Amino acid sequence: LTIEKLDLGRVVRGVLRFLEKEAEYRSIDINVDIPSDLPPIHSDRGKLQQITLNLVTNALQAMKSGGRMAIAANLGKDRDVILRFSDTGCGIAPEHLSRIFDPFFTTKGNHEGSGLGLSITYGLVRKLGGAISVESEINKGTTFFVSLPLRMEEQ
Ligand code: ADP
Ligand code: MG
Repeated sequence: LTIEKLDLGRVVRGVLRFLEKEAEYRSIDINVDIPSDLPPIHSDRGKLQQITLNLVTNALQAMKSGGRMAIAANLGKDRDVILRFSDTGCGIAPEHLSRIFDPFFTTKGNHEGSGLGLSITYGLVRKLGGAISVESEINKGTTFFVSLPLRMEEQ
């Protein structure tokens, strides 16, 4: 882990620069609402980038043209920050919800998905001292909640 003092909004928007061409091409709108007065987060930049990339990639894959994605952050009650990734995609079947974080679980075709993204994301969030959860409704959309401590102890 490399712990730095980071502006979470900047980290997230930095990752989106790599994805906005694809989103634009598919007429998918990505809205970021991360307040500029959010306190800095002491965490690992590369791991935050990978978490963001994995969750946004999944959201883009779940949506059709015209879909909408929202990324928002707010301060939690326990010196942590809660990052939300919402999409208007296909949603996750209730019977799959308990398996999506398992390595190699995928509902995608052979060459589209390895099923590793969310298991890696889960591990990364845990390494940062945080937690990840999900709410989803089939044909409506999905929200992933990532809570992260504002101050990750150096180790
Ligand atoms: P992969 O993307 O390679 O399939 P992941 O571990 O990233 O593997 O995701 C596992 C599964 O969880 C996906 O195959 C999909 O069924 C489901 N999933 C993840 N994110 C979303 C999302 N935003 N909307 C709908 N389904 C999702
Ligand atoms: Mg994936």
